[in-house]
Parts: sequence; C-alpha cells; structure tokens
Amino acid sequence: MTDRIEAFINSKAGKKILGALGVATPAELRRYDSNADSFISGDVMIDAGDNAHLLGPVVRNLSDSTASVHFGHRASSLTGQTGGSSAERYQALIFDASGLTNSLELIQAYTFFNQNIRKLAASGRIILLGRPHLDAADASAAATQRALEGFSRSLAKEVGKKGATAQLITVAEGGEENIDSGLRFLLSGKSAYVDGQVLRISAASCPELPEWHKPLADKVALVTGASRGIGLAIAQTLARDGATVLGVDVAPMAAELNQAMAAIKGEALVADITADNAAELIGEQLRKMGGADLIVHNAGVTRDKTIANMTEQQWQLTLNINLAAAQRITDALLSGGVINDGGSIVGVSSMNGIAGQRGQTNYAASKAGVIGYVDYMSKDPALLAKGITVNAVAPGFIETAMTAAVPLMTRMFGRRLNSLSQGGLPLDVAETIALFGNPASRAINGNTIRVCGQAWIGA
Ligand code: NAD
Repeated sequence: MTDRIEAFINSKAGKKILGALGVATPAELRRYDSNADSFISGDVMIDAGDNAHLLGPVVRNLSDSTASVHFGHRASSLTGQTGGSSAERYQALIFDASGLTNSLELIQAYTFFNQNIRKLAASGRIILLGRPHLDAADASAAATQRALEGFSRSLAKEVGKKGATAQLITVAEGGEENIDSGLRFLLSGKSAYVDGQVLRISAASCPELPEWHKPLADKVALVTGASRGIGLAIAQTLARDGATVLGVDVAPMAAELNQAMAAIKGEALVADITADNAAELIGEQLRKMGGADLIVHNAGVTRDKTIANMTEQQWQLTLNINLAAAQRITDALLSGGVINDGGSIVGVSSMNGIAGQRGQTNYAASKAGVIGYVDYMSKDPALLAKGITVNAVAPGFIETAMTAAVPLMTRMFGRRLNSLSQGGLPLDVAETIALFGNPASRAINGNTIRVCGQAWIGA
C-alpha cells in the first residue's frame, strides 16, 4: 500500500496535485560526472571584501578549470584582473570575506549577493571564504568572521529550492595555499548534498593535488560494513577514485560482501568488528596490502527504543558496534603501525547524534561519541607528526534499505525537511569521505561535515 501511495506521489499526476498544493518537486542535483574535464565549468563570479587574503589561491584553482571567471569591482582591483562582462547565469558565486574585521564591513558581502544571487544557476554554488573566528586579533574581528557562518547558512536556505548550495570555508593564517581539494570539492557535483557547512582548513603542510578523477590512485582503504547501503557506496566510490578496498562485514552478509568486493577488485574479510580478534585480522590483511591510507568506520546499527523500554543488550550492542569497536580497531592499527603516514581516519556519525532523536538515546550517544573521538584524535601530536587526519561525516536522511523501512509519512517528511527538499544518496556520503582521503586534504583535520542537504532539525 505504502509503495502505491509513493508511486502516485512521484507520478506526473501526483506531482501536479502536490504542485497545486504548493509542495514543490525537488530540483535534480548536479553530481560528479566522470566524463567532465573540469570540477566546474560555465560562468563563475568572484568578488572580495577589503584586505582579502584568499583571492590568489581561488583564482589559481579556477584557472585550472574550464570555467569563465568574472571579477567584481574589488576582486578586480586586488588581483589586477579585468572585470569581464557580466553573464546571464553563474554556476558559482564566490566571495572572499577573509579580510573583514568590523561587522559594518559585512555590507560588502551583502552588496555582492544582493546584486548577483538572482543569477545563480540551478545546482549552483555559493562559497564564502573567511578566517577561523577564534584566531582573530580582536573581538570585533572574531564577531565579524563568526557572522559569516550565519550569513552563509541563511544563503543556503534561500537557494536550496533550485538545488544550489552555500558553504563557508575558513582558512587559518598560513593555510592559504591549502584550499585546493576542499574548494574544488565544494564547487563540484561531488558535494551535491553537502549544504550550509563550514569547512575548516588549517596551516598544515599539504602534498600536491592528485588528478581530479583518480585522487586515490595507489591508496589502500578499509571500509567496515561494506556489503550494502552507505558502506557499499563508499567502497565503490573509493575504488572509482583509484583505491584498493578491503571491505569487512559480518558472516550473514558474506555472499554480498564477496560479490561487491569482486566487482571493484577489492578484498573481502568476513569479520564482526566487535570480535576480540577483529583488529588483528584486519591489521594482518591490511599489512599484506601495503598498509592502509584510509580507514572508514562505517559499520553501524540501530536498536531503537525509548530509554524506559530499552534493554541493556540494546544499549550496549549499539555503543559497542558504533563507537567502541571503531576506537579499539583504530588504536590497534595505529599502535601496529598499519596506518601509513599521511593517512586518514574517518568516522561515520549521524545528524541524530547532533540533534538527538526520540527512541535513539543509544544510537545518538554513540554517534555523538564519534564526533568527540574525532575532535580529540585530530589534535593528537603523534598523529599530527605523521600527517594522519581524523574527520567525520554526519549523514542526514540518506536513501538506503534502512530508511526505506521507515513508515511512509515519517519517510516523506524525513526526506523533505532540508533545504534541498530531498533525501541524499549513499554516494553523497561517500564523496565527502573521499575528500577526507584525498592526499591533498591534509589541512582538513578535525572536521565533522554534515551530508544532510542542510537538515532543518539539529544544530
Ligand atoms: P546498513 O544497515 O544498510 O549497513 C550497515 C552495514 O554494517 C551492514 O552491511 C551490516 O552488516 C554492517 N555491520 C553491522 N554490524 C557489524 C559488525 N558488528 N561488524 C561488521 N559489520 C557490521 O546501514 P546504512 O544505512 O548503510 O548505514 C551505514 C552507516 O551510516 C551507519 O554507521 C549508520 O549509522 C550511518 N548513517 C546512516 C544514515 C541513513 O540515512 N541511512 C543516516 C545517518 C548515519
């Protein structure tokens, strides 16, 4: 029955009726295209506020694309590049606000978007650039830079209807040349379902940018829970990007796991990540593969019950699989020297770990714990010395078997309650993980990026 209702809603007649009721059909999102020869193409407009620091690196990246760049008044005078006639539609609007130190100067950003936002194309991109507010020289500069977060998140809510997104990139002093992998990702179709986020870039020294279509060439990646859903998409995407994948899953999923890994020329390991010997088995296999460059702790479960009705077993199993096992495996791989220098560890959190959810005290605690773990580990001096980064993704509503099992009305609302008015694909989560694994992302460390289409519920 629910399938028939859903089929009707998605039919031409259903869409017409919903349209008449004011419920818009979500825009089709631009995603990664393996045939495109550039991370962005078409017309791109750049401008800046006073004393901007990041125009040079932005222009350098865009000149490596097939985009036609148009310069606003200040960007033109700061870079010496000619303005160029204005275009009818912009694929991206980029504003460098990194030099603003007084809140009344924010009017410069207001003016740029006030004049250009109507020209933003469907699936267009807005990028604001700033500095970490906590590094500011005085309170006024800190307030001004923090203001950019509220500004960019509100812009995201204004342009989401057309499948367009808006993000803020903050760049620490000395990290100006580190923006390449993050900027290109956010301008490209790879970030289709990332919206209203702040990407924080540090001053850590970064290796050179690899080739756009094969950023993970010669890399080895571990993906737990790789036989289906998001884990499968992660394994496939990392393999698409050039990595050799070791996929892990439990015995009941062995057939699916073997088939999935064979299809991407990866290795399959049947193991329960909570087993006593799991870390040893995984470490042994990774060592045979030359050590790991990317560790993705994707395996996860839900055991939903309100706290009064939840059994101890439901609580402990969820905490163990989603959090404790991932920690144990990471610790063992690090102490065994299995994670290569310059490697990357990625936790899979959840929007519900940020916002909380009725009936999910166990799940939300485990997923918030993932963020705490990432925050702490990303500052570990031993990891910093080896150039190993630690980040997390926090997916929102992603179309998987798990969410297909959610009752129809909850599912219909769940997928609509975000700025892009639709659920994301497992691929969208995988793309953000691939960004963390990109060798040129060494300055992206300690970030939790939500892949949620800017879900309206939660921080
Ligand atoms: P899924 O249930 O489809 O897949 C999870 C996989 O992990 C399965 O293949 C399962 O067999 C495996 N797994 C479970 N316990 C394991 C264990 N002890 N050892 C080894 N493997 C184990 O779930 P999914 O929707 O693909 O979710 C993947 C991850 O994304 C999970 O961590 C989940 O919490 C997170 N997430 C999902 C969504 C969503 O909308 N689907 C939203 C937020 C976060």
